[in-house]
Amino acid sequence: MNNFDVVVVGAGISGIGAAYNLQKTCSSKSFTILEGREKIGGTWDLFKYPGIRSDSDMHTMGFRFKPWTEPKAIADGPSILKYLDGAVKENDLEKKIQFNRKVISAKWETNKAHWNLTVKNTKDDSEEIIRCKILYLCGGYYNYDEGYLPEFKGYEDFEGEIIHPQKWPEDLNYEDKKVIVIGSGATAITIIPAMAEKVSHITMLQRSPTYYMSAPDKRPLDSFIQKITTDRLGFFLIRWKNILLGRIFVNQIKKNPEKWKEFLINGVKENLGEDYDIDKHFTPKYNPWDQRLCFVPNGDMFEAINSGKAEVVTNTIDKFTKEGIKLSTGEELKADIIVTATGLNMQLLNGIDITIDNQQLDISEKIQYKTMMFSDVPNLIATFGYTTASWTLGADLTSEYACKLINLLDKKDMDYFYPEAGEDVAAGGDFLDLNSGYIQRVAHKLPKQGSRDPWINTQNYLKDLIQIRFKSLEDSDLKFKKTG
Ligand SMILES: Cc1cc2nc3c(=O)[nH]c(=O)nc-3n(C[C@H](O)[C@H](O)[C@H](O)COP(=O)(O)OP(=O)(O)OC[C@H]3O[C@@H](n4cnc5c(N)ncnc54)[C@H](O)[C@@H]3O)c2cc1C
Repeated sequence: MNNFDVVVVGAGISGIGAAYNLQKTCSSKSFTILEGREKIGGTWDLFKYPGIRSDSDMHTMGFRFKPWTEPKAIADGPSILKYLDGAVKENDLEKKIQFNRKVISAKWETNKAHWNLTVKNTKDDSEEIIRCKILYLCGGYYNYDEGYLPEFKGYEDFEGEIIHPQKWPEDLNYEDKKVIVIGSGATAITIIPAMAEKVSHITMLQRSPTYYMSAPDKRPLDSFIQKITTDRLGFFLIRWKNILLGRIFVNQIKKNPEKWKEFLINGVKENLGEDYDIDKHFTPKYNPWDQRLCFVPNGDMFEAINSGKAEVVTNTIDKFTKEGIKLSTGEELKADIIVTATGLNMQLLNGIDITIDNQQLDISEKIQYKTMMFSDVPNLIATFGYTTASWTLGADLTSEYACKLINLLDKKDMDYFYPEAGEDVAAGGDFLDLNSGYIQRVAHKLPKQGSRDPWINTQNYLKDLIQIRFKSLEDSDLKFKKTG
């Protein structure tokens, strides 16, 4: 069958969550998941670098419908994949997933109220057309083909191996090797402690410092709650504790950044000692949460530095050389392996070329609605989770809303919906309130935020939860139409 009520793009965390909710609450609707790769898991299957792990706790990064019962709240990649695999099997979702099917283009026809999707078979490059009424994007937020790599002078001259974390060779031998990791974000500070024990030396080469916060990956209170309750109740209590504490934490930091700046930097000082040059290497120029805060489980990164195996260099790169990297100040760092932990290429709409009645969709001209739809774009839902909390909290609310909306469309006996921004909705704000490099590089290509609810990207689970779970779906901006 090539005709579905709903097509979900992507079988990562968001796509699996969407499928669970569609199956449960839109049981009369036919749907399929088109996944471009040959496995589920998305991010957690793609990244294979040493130490790959979550930054968020799995009680909020896991699904609402499947308790996270492992003792560690911060989980490694394989444990996350096992959990996702369990969610698919327990809910009989395998039959819904079509692997090696990459959606290339989507053409909306208003007079027929459907999407025609061009879908490429990534095994044999053949193409087919799949039709659906509702297109539900769950393909993440970055380009899977290539990570971000700044232009480095002399890149070709380096005679060792250069590796981007997005394409990690699983058989890489780094025993007794000298390694430079360029970058200081979550990926760099995961890779460095994980490699430190085996390498002869590892250097984190950063242009400027990032905020870090160290905390245990197992939390005694969680273990206690898990011990005295059932899996389900324990999960519910820990999840809500984490949601509320996380929100309070972000609110407090935004309200009083100076105080928290000092708190975070003092945390690093406690780990590295007074003699370490914290000002140079660990004092960022921006305020906490202007960019993502990086989590250091059990202080592992600081331990690697204290052991002498890992070192931080704060400097800019002049060029790559035969044997390593020459810094702008003239020194040369030698290396056998250079890891470019320089980030992702952010991408919205899952890289799909979208047209609406033969007009190319330019998403930068649109205003986002409830962080899941765009002004004047019909029957399209796009998942974008939270950046200041677990992504999945946002993805879960999106799927709850999507299912209610699909049912409402039926109840009204209508064919399509779209949000329309009235004159009182000025398009002003950036899509996201973060100035991280990967967002700033594409800020001009992203949709805008509007000046009032529900056109504001709240990034606030509690506020969105009330909107979505307890308030009416209908508002004067959401239009329902019938063809003809
Ligand atoms: C290294 C790393 C660590 C992270 N850690 C955290 C964390 O700790 N906490 C957190 O909240 N977030 C984290 N994130 C963000 C993370 O991506 C999300 O939490 C979550 O994995 C996103 O799930 P997703 O299903 O929306 O997207 P993804 O995991 O990106 O999966 C998308 C899937 O869609 C498929 N797809 C994409 N486009 C198409 C297409 N056109 N056609 C067909 N299939 C398509 C892809 O192949 C992929 O399988 C991290 C991201 C990275 C890169």
